[in-house]
Amino acid sequence: MGKALIVGTGLGAMTSALRLASRGYKVEMVEKYHQPGGRLNQLKKDGFTFDLGPTFFSMTYEFEEFRKDVGLTRLPFTFRDLDVLYAVNFRGSDKRYIIYRDLDRLAKEFEAVEPDFRRKMDRFLAGAARFFHDTEYLVLKRNYDSLFQYLLTLLRVPVRHSPKLLRSVWTEMERHFESREVKEIFSLVAFFLGATPFDTPAIYTILSYTELVHDGYHNVEGGMYKIVEGLRKELDRAGVVMHFNTEIVDYRQADGKVAAMIDRHGKDWEADLFVVNADAAWFRHKIFRRKKFSAARMDKLQWTLAPFTMYLGLDTKLPDVPLHNYFLGTNFKEYSGKIFKNAIKLDQPYYYVNVVSKSDPESAPEGCESVFVLCPVPDMRFKPDWSDREQIAAGIIRDLSGRIGIDLQKHIISKTVMTPVEWRDAFNLYKGSGLGLGHNLNQIGGFRPKNFDEEFKNVFYVGASTVPGTGLPMAVISSKLLVERITGAYGSLHS
Ligand SMILES: Cc1cc2nc3c(=O)[nH]c(=O)nc-3n(C[C@H](O)[C@H](O)[C@H](O)COP(=O)(O)OP(=O)(O)OC[C@H]3O[C@@H](n4cnc5c(N)ncnc54)[C@H](O)[C@@H]3O)c2cc1C
Repeated sequence: MGKALIVGTGLGAMTSALRLASRGYKVEMVEKYHQPGGRLNQLKKDGFTFDLGPTFFSMTYEFEEFRKDVGLTRLPFTFRDLDVLYAVNFRGSDKRYIIYRDLDRLAKEFEAVEPDFRRKMDRFLAGAARFFHDTEYLVLKRNYDSLFQYLLTLLRVPVRHSPKLLRSVWTEMERHFESREVKEIFSLVAFFLGATPFDTPAIYTILSYTELVHDGYHNVEGGMYKIVEGLRKELDRAGVVMHFNTEIVDYRQADGKVAAMIDRHGKDWEADLFVVNADAAWFRHKIFRRKKFSAARMDKLQWTLAPFTMYLGLDTKLPDVPLHNYFLGTNFKEYSGKIFKNAIKLDQPYYYVNVVSKSDPESAPEGCESVFVLCPVPDMRFKPDWSDREQIAAGIIRDLSGRIGIDLQKHIISKTVMTPVEWRDAFNLYKGSGLGLGHNLNQIGGFRPKNFDEEFKNVFYVGASTVPGTGLPMAVISSKLLVERITGAYGSLHS
């Protein structure tokens, strides 16, 4: 029992590979895409460099835990703390809200719209902090063998937190704040989870605590893809081999185990154990063809919003646009209510803009700017046809031009658009859903697809749609939980 084959090379896979290699496993990885990283990927085009998906993240200490676990003296990439987390703009208003980590400066930003902001924010964050620290180790960073074990664990969560399970993020905001601006801005964390504040449980207000107080937000020197490049070097050193343009489409079984995964060209990939980093629900549906993950059931699950992304190379600078920006409209509630189901016109879009070259000047030629735009849109269950992609892209560019006072159309010298179709096809994301399975109460913890297979003893899962959930730090935690499972079953090969 020494050889592990990992299907996929996302962050969960790469961190798992190093953890397994450090425990004596011989690891090989197969990847459908042409380079590693999964959603944490990179696009180089026309002299510009873009991070494909993630642009910042929280909970850096999970990477530190990983570093110690695999015996590295330092991480092979460098974090940068963000003092300004992001800026938020509302349509029709010149006021731009800067979200500082420093709570005193933050209070100043909101003094005109939310009297007594600091006291209210402290109270709000204290509640979120209590929940975070009462559950981080007890519930989040744990493996569950059964639903029963998960439910028993929940009984140990202090009862004072129960209302947070019943309320939404939005309701929690309404309990603490009065102004529309504050409620909308600090409920954006629900969108980071690929959902809206109206359908996300209030337990996720912990994200406000992690962004503002606990660990803040960070990006990576030289761009987010440095994480992947750094890990790849360590994997090379550890003797882990990666094969690209290799998509697993089938499997062969023997004696209640998977004997081999089979790629698109009919090649068998044999191993003693298999780790699936492809979406944990999608793989059970598409490759293992499980009844519980039939097409009808997959469509009924709650999936996160899909990304509509643009990568723009501009031949000009944007001096007045900060690094991370949100551009919101004036109909937050209505937009949030309709965006999932394609009932909204995208002519007045809500979107995020990252001017990558502000933090990494080498990502654009001299005098130019690399700009990433992300607009959350319905997945392909609700909008299968994206042939209107150019119209949607033009609408967002027009809107952004108006709001920053520069006619971007005149300055675009490189443009790439990815709709949910391209996101689905690149990484096998179910119907183009960007962050995988959603995080409503019946899809987290013991309810989420497990990180061990129900049928095959030697198959395990890691990544966003298994435990604990989506986002870069969660992928790292997921690899920790996975390796606990594997060493629980097979032991560390060094000991
Ligand atoms: C647009 C966007 C923006 C984001 N922004 C942020 C952010 O700012 N901060 C943050 O923390 N998180 C962000 N995320 C989320 C984050 O990217 C993911 O949660 C994380 O990268 C998922 O890692 P993973 O381990 O699940 O692997 P994935 O990235 O899902 O990788 C899985 C890999 O498996 C491969 N694969 C799938 N099927 C097969 C097969 N059959 N055979 C072979 N290979 C296969 C795929 O090609 C892929 O490379 C963002 C995501 C998106 C889409």
